[in-house]
Amino acid sequence: MATVETDEPTFVETALKLGGKSDEEARTTGAVDRAEDQVEAMYQAAQRTSGGPVHRAVWDDTFPSELFSTQRIAAGGEVRKVMDASIEVVRRRKKAGTLLNSEGKVSEESLAELSRAGYWRLLVDVDYGGVGSKFAPFSRFLTEMATIDATVAGMASVHGCIGAVDPLRTFGTREQKAAFLPTLASGERLSAFALTEPGAGSDLTALKTVAVLDGDDYVVNGEKLFITNAGCGRTVGLVCRIDNKPAVLIADLPAQENEHFEIVRYKLYALKQCYNHGLKFKNFRVPKANLLIPEKGDGLAIAYHGLNHGRVALCAGAAGSMRVMLASMLPWAKYRRTYGAAIETRELIQRRVGRLAALIVGCDALTEWCGSLLDAGFRGELECIIAKVFGSESQKEAAIELMMKTHGGRAFLHGHLFGDNVHEYLAPCIYEGEGEILGMGFFKSLVKDHGKSFYEPIGKALYNAGIKQPNMMNPLHLWKLRNAAVPYAKWRAGQMVGGASRPTLPTLKGNLSAHAEFAAAGLQRSRKSVDSLMQKYQLKLADRQCAVAAESKRVQSLVVMMVAAMWAGQQTDKLLHAAADVLCSDLRREITGEKPTGKYYRSVTSLGKAVAEGEFAALTGIDEQEILMPYQQ
Ligand SMILES: Cc1cc2nc3c(=O)[nH]c(=O)nc-3n(C[C@H](O)[C@H](O)[C@H](O)COP(=O)(O)OP(=O)(O)OC[C@H]3O[C@@H](n4cnc5c(N)ncnc54)[C@H](O)[C@@H]3O)c2cc1C
Repeated sequence: MATVETDEPTFVETALKLGGKSDEEARTTGAVDRAEDQVEAMYQAAQRTSGGPVHRAVWDDTFPSELFSTQRIAAGGEVRKVMDASIEVVRRRKKAGTLLNSEGKVSEESLAELSRAGYWRLLVDVDYGGVGSKFAPFSRFLTEMATIDATVAGMASVHGCIGAVDPLRTFGTREQKAAFLPTLASGERLSAFALTEPGAGSDLTALKTVAVLDGDDYVVNGEKLFITNAGCGRTVGLVCRIDNKPAVLIADLPAQENEHFEIVRYKLYALKQCYNHGLKFKNFRVPKANLLIPEKGDGLAIAYHGLNHGRVALCAGAAGSMRVMLASMLPWAKYRRTYGAAIETRELIQRRVGRLAALIVGCDALTEWCGSLLDAGFRGELECIIAKVFGSESQKEAAIELMMKTHGGRAFLHGHLFGDNVHEYLAPCIYEGEGEILGMGFFKSLVKDHGKSFYEPIGKALYNAGIKQPNMMNPLHLWKLRNAAVPYAKWRAGQMVGGASRPTLPTLKGNLSAHAEFAAAGLQRSRKSVDSLMQKYQLKLADRQCAVAAESKRVQSLVVMMVAAMWAGQQTDKLLHAAADVLCSDLRREITGEKPTGKYYRSVTSLGKAVAEGEFAALTGIDEQEILMPYQQ
């Protein structure tokens, strides 16, 4: 893929201009697009978005099945020791009721004990005081931690992925790493990621915080909002504008508020066990040595890198939280009797239990797959978006459709898992990128190469010829497009006569082979539906959000099917095969619009029954929830 390293207009910028958008909109959107291109430039060609499994599955004539099978990477000895010690701390403090302080936040003592256990060292390289965990075992561990405490799991992701650790590890100089990583590893300073502003969330082109060089310091002015883990004495990766370009400064926040730094406090329902604040900077000085300067790109390149990891961590956390939800449903379903029988014997409940097991398996598969891709050096942009969107949407469905409904009225009692945590379960749909906005980004990245190669030359030729509405029946239009349209015409003709070859896939257990074949063939065919959309809407495509969102979702669902079938197919546990089968059947029906069959109902209810009988290994070691308001039976 051609990467943009100059101020030349990007593909998106050109398309928006040609499509009649204002210069300002085209320029600001183009700036985000350029940042994305610059992140791409950091990777070897084979590891860029266009070399990753999703892009290749859609656009390559040969299906890259090897990129959908996951090699499990185990945690090394020292890494596992730290993980076990950290789990022990959280489990013990939770049991003793000492995890939280009087405000209901994870207490300083708990954080300090986690520091001693080495929790904050996990992703820091050994040279800088860490234990250098690979990302796949780290994210698997977050699932484990989330079964004990989802907030503590989330804090490790904020610290290590989106906070200051990942930007320093990936983009810091030797001096910057030596200056910051040891204190971040030891937990002396915890970190946060400060990107969002009151006027800039989804729209990162609206960032207003500025830093201006003055002597040996940058002077920062601006305001940040919704910053998790931020507070006095912590270290933030602060995204601001320098010379009108996004940049990241590593800023040590002072031990106390002062005239240059103010904390904005508000009451937030979500992430209630950790601090989330606004930050106001007024002539706040940060040494110029703290500016991260990526080899290519700007501050958004740094932010995107960390967010990619954070999105997988979010999926991992969802896999843990959903295990806890499922563990809460089983004893209740056994206990609660209606019309003379326990509700666990009813099909509706068995279906909910089976569906939840299927969602857990989907999240486990995506976490493991994305983690191993990131460890193998892939950028993983499309893949990590899928993990984030699937993880957050699954958690939302699990909380509301499966757990809340099964627990009935008690779900709303104080002290109930659902009532107490409903905001925790919903917020991941918003933070680290709202799902549908990410879906738009997913589609844009999926079509970028294709658009650049085939549509951009046509668009430019039309623009130069002053043609706003091309008409292929008009000989003049055809003449004007005669050169620019040749590559596209060749591509289309190639798709008619040859195109994708039949995917070669490994043989998987039971129905999983059929699901993988359906997904692989569907992904390969997607090039045609994606191209048709591009052809239909041409330069107005960016405005056809509903059609783009639907196509994006369809491709994402096919990928989830593929990953779940391949991952479960590598496992020996039959229940995992059954759960992946249910998930893939659900996704397949979503795509085809078919109705569930009797056979499907039998699969999902017998899966639910087997889970209720204790056969789901994913629930091993998870504490059962107390039944609230027990009654005389
Ligand atoms: C609990 C929590 C923790 C957070 N932690 C952090 C953190 O640590 N660091 C940090 O920097 N941020 C953090 N955030 C902020 C979070 O990332 C943003 O809230 C999120 O990116 C969405 O931005 P927004 O709230 O401004 O919503 P908006 O951008 O205002 O979006 C509102 C709605 O409009 C839609 N929308 C926006 N633009 C378009 C468009 N062009 N077309 C169609 N629809 C559109 C969106 O999809 C969404 O549905 C946190 C948020 C929460 C709730």
